Amino acid sequence: MLNGKTAVVTGGSRGIGAAVARKLASKGADIAIVYSSDDNAAMTVCEEIKKDFSVNCRTYRCDVSDFEEAKKTVTAIKNNFGSIYILVNNAGITRDGLCAMMSEEDFSRVIDVNLVGAFNMIRHCIAGFIRQRGGRIINISSVSGIMGNAGQANYSASKAGLIGLTKSIARELAPRGVTCNAIAPGFILTDMTKDMAQQDEIKARIPLGSIGSAEDVACAAAFLVEASYVTGEVLRVDGGLAM
Ligand code: NAP
Repeated sequence: MLNGKTAVVTGGSRGIGAAVARKLASKGADIAIVYSSDDNAAMTVCEEIKKDFSVNCRTYRCDVSDFEEAKKTVTAIKNNFGSIYILVNNAGITRDGLCAMMSEEDFSRVIDVNLVGAFNMIRHCIAGFIRQRGGRIINISSVSGIMGNAGQANYSASKAGLIGLTKSIARELAPRGVTCNAIAPGFILTDMTKDMAQQDEIKARIPLGSIGSAEDVACAAAFLVEASYVTGEVLRVDGGLAM
């Protein structure tokens, strides 16, 4: 059980992040939800978590791609909760388009939120992890970071970068008893994917034959929090898509 431990979930106001926050709360963790714009969504998830699981939960509006904003947010979370045991870097965006047409801004913004954002959060949490000689870092990557995806050069690069970040941090922090792993979801039904027109075509490519749920990813995150002898791993949650 995670009673007395605090989990920070970036992008915890919707989709996969909200499911991860609820799953860790169901195991007793106190929850800090970090989000960028939708106050109502964050407050709703937070109120439900407090009601359903009787744990402490707070929301923090922060653009994780901003180094100083991320620093202020981590400081505020530590002040409110005492310490951080679990960091789930889940905040992510897409700005899809073929590389031949992609603007520099669209390439950079996706790298800044998805990859630099994870670095920023880890960078500001790391001293605490080292001091307490324990902790869990989980980075939400994607099968696009493993396989590449036409129309997602920016997104795939950010998600592949997260895998390299994960393995380096795993090596740096292993001597301190801190694990760092990545989850690579395939197609998961959330706001990010709900408009995909060709869902039947997608399902046909998935060996298990269906689109995944946010709960599927949340279960994998809960496993990685429990698994003290697993680090530097990339756990695919993709119905077999990328095998
Ligand atoms: P989503 O429903 O679009 O939710 C994105 C979340 O990230 C929201 O809570 C959003 O907050 C937050 N966010 C966006 N930009 C942010 C920023 N700059 N700073 C802080 N928070 C920010 O996404 P999802 O589908 O649940 O995906 C979650 C993660 O899983 C992403 O990293 C995504 O790349 C990855 N993933 C998803 C799938 C899939 O099929 N859905 C597959 C593979 C990987 P606001 O709403 O307040 O802006």
